[in-house]
Amino acid sequence: MKQVAVLGATGSIGDSTLAVIRRHPDKLKIHSLTAHRNSDKMIALIAEFAPKRVVITDHKAYKAVLASGIAATTECHYGADALNDAVQDPAIDLVVAGIVGNAGMASVMAAVKAGKTLLLANKESIVTAGSLVMPLAQKTGAKIIPLDSEHNAIYQCLPDSYRIGERPASVAHLTLTASGGPFWNTPAAAFKTITPAQAVAHPQWDMGAKISVDSATLMNKGLEVIEAHWLFSMPVADIRVCIHPQSIIHSMVNYVDGSILAQLGTPDMQIPISYGLGMGQRLANDAALLDITALGQLQFYPANHEKFPNLNLARQAIEMGGTAPAILNAANEVAVAAFLNEEIAFTKISDINDRMLNSFTVEEVESVSQLIEIDQMIHQQTTKLIKSLG
Ligand code: NDP
Repeated sequence: MKQVAVLGATGSIGDSTLAVIRRHPDKLKIHSLTAHRNSDKMIALIAEFAPKRVVITDHKAYKAVLASGIAATTECHYGADALNDAVQDPAIDLVVAGIVGNAGMASVMAAVKAGKTLLLANKESIVTAGSLVMPLAQKTGAKIIPLDSEHNAIYQCLPDSYRIGERPASVAHLTLTASGGPFWNTPAAAFKTITPAQAVAHPQWDMGAKISVDSATLMNKGLEVIEAHWLFSMPVADIRVCIHPQSIIHSMVNYVDGSILAQLGTPDMQIPISYGLGMGQRLANDAALLDITALGQLQFYPANHEKFPNLNLARQAIEMGGTAPAILNAANEVAVAAFLNEEIAFTKISDINDRMLNSFTVEEVESVSQLIEIDQMIHQQTTKLIKSLG
């Protein structure tokens, strides 16, 4: 029986994780759950799973959960620091990092420090703090299993001898597939009038609002290039992106002998999540099994970097090194939130990202606290820039 901590249990990754766990009560047990604002959902999850501990990071939500009269067998803690303490509990075997944004970074570091097996969905922590997380994992022996479907696919296709953070000599390059989001085929001239509702309506994946907008701007793919760079020790030049609108092949490993290994499946996060929770054992889940004969054809196209400038910005950020990916990621968080609030046009997201990436001195990454400070500073500066744009 593996004891699992689900960080971000009330979100989309949380939903998929809990759906897999529900099917395997003989193998997986919830130890801890965390939420930010969604107190109602957390109260329901406590009643269903009777976790040993819950952490709520929003004070009003914490008070609401306490006031609901939860069972005394569940400890209820408040605050970001409590997240870090929770993941280090010796009883926990698996930590699912499903918090969105930089808010997930410190708990990812805490889990790695404690040498846990980390099922990593929170890509922002690797994007911004990859240079801290990966060496720490090698030192503590923490195992990192990526949940992002692309990186999970690559993880599944790498040789058995592969250790996270080490580039196998037999790999020529990686191919990250991208659905292209809702607009890969839309003429650039129509981009200005794209609404938030259109941008979050992803053609293949059902995800949170922020990551759905990132898919539509291809920033998600840019962040995934940075993520792959750190997870698989690959130079950006050896990480290729191709548009594959059906989202059936989740990514590929191109070997030096000309062989390509790919992982296929329906676009459902329960597949990578159950792979992670099973730790090599295949676990059944609610995802539909793929009928290959019903697919007809699979298509692949080069990514259009001019229409989607965020892709190049991500590559540029890796080449700039140090805190550049953190600057890009923070600027993008603010720009996407402003777009969702209908304060800026869709096309302004990449303009703002570009301006912010190229306006600050890049420093060497030294600590999580430094990254959090930079994140806050870039959030403020990006908000200021957006206000100045009217
Ligand atoms: P959601 O917005 O659906 O859920 C986010 C979760 O994080 C919620 O549980 C939320 O709590 C919690 N949260 C939000 N803010 C904070 C905070 N300040 N402190 C602590 N917890 C917080 O996001 P997703 O599940 O879509 O994404 C989660 C992560 O997984 C992201 O990094 C995303 O990029 C990555 N990912 C997601 C995929 C998907 O299919 N959804 C695919 C691949 C990667 P509450 O709801 O209670 O406020």
